[in-house]
Amino acid sequence: ATPVSIMVGTGRGAQLGVLIKSGRALQEAGGLDTVVFDKTGTLTHGRPELAAVTMVRGTMARTEAVYLAAAAESRSEHPLAQAIVRHARALELDPPEPDAFEAVPGKGIRATIGYRTVLIGNRAFMEDNGISLDDDQFAVDAISHYAGQGATVVFFASENKFNAVFAIADAMRDETPEVVASLKRNGLTPIMLTGDNEVTARVVAERAGIDAVIAGVLPDRKAAEIERLQAEGRKVAMVGDGINDAPALALADIGVAMGSGIDVAVESGDVVLIKSDLRALLTALNLSRATMTNIK
Ligand code: ADP
Ligand code: MG
Repeated sequence: ATPVSIMVGTGRGAQLGVLIKSGRALQEAGGLDTVVFDKTGTLTHGRPELAAVTMVRGTMARTEAVYLAAAAESRSEHPLAQAIVRHARALELDPPEPDAFEAVPGKGIRATIGYRTVLIGNRAFMEDNGISLDDDQFAVDAISHYAGQGATVVFFASENKFNAVFAIADAMRDETPEVVASLKRNGLTPIMLTGDNEVTARVVAERAGIDAVIAGVLPDRKAAEIERLQAEGRKVAMVGDGINDAPALALADIGVAMGSGIDVAVESGDVVLIKSDLRALLTALNLSRATMTNIK
């Protein structure tokens, strides 16, 4: 490939809402057979909302749980945290800053508010802390109900006791199903890669038209999953927003960053979807193929 041809390709891309940062991306696009998508912020908008709270009976009042959870999450940058904080503000609660705070990536957070220590996170995080989630049948049913609706389920514990289930919903981008369908028509295999739980991930994947799901992946294992797919002989594009997936973007044959994602994603990506519209992914792949055909 001549540098001149690649510059033509990148210039046209910019007009179409695609920033192609490396000639490598154009050259790799032809042989691509797999497109890995991050879930939150990529297939979905990444603006989750706290949709429901189910209390474990005999624990505390719902408002108190939301108040404590929002105080704890006010120090977290995770999109799930922001959903809880926004919900508390909408209820005109004014949660204080926690006195102590610790985040465990891919699992949850621990915070101290006054005399209370609270934990918020996924099942693995609760199990790591010896907290059982299966004693209250009402809560058990709520968990599977919410996950079955495609919501992310997080657990709230106070003083090492399970108190509440939070269902956090993040709407699918309008264009996601049509983009996935188009990739499949072009012989590409879409795969979802997420830190979220398997049940929720499968429901969202099904709505998107994605059959293959790799769920429950800790942030520092996402790049290893890309490597594993490459070791199977696949040529992989990874599409992500950079929250926990920048190393995976960098390792993929083509890293595609959502333009609204965090800066590190934009830095790690070979291709940036400037308008954060997934249809621009199709534009990028078509453009790459067309450019390489011109060169040949
Ligand atoms: P994703 O791959 O969807 O971006 P992460 O790897 O960041 O997810 O997190 C995986 C899971 O860990 C989340 O679905 C959630 O259950 C839990 N988790 C992580 N951070 C937090 C937090 N600040 N508050 C509550 N739960 C969290
Ligand atoms: Mg993400």
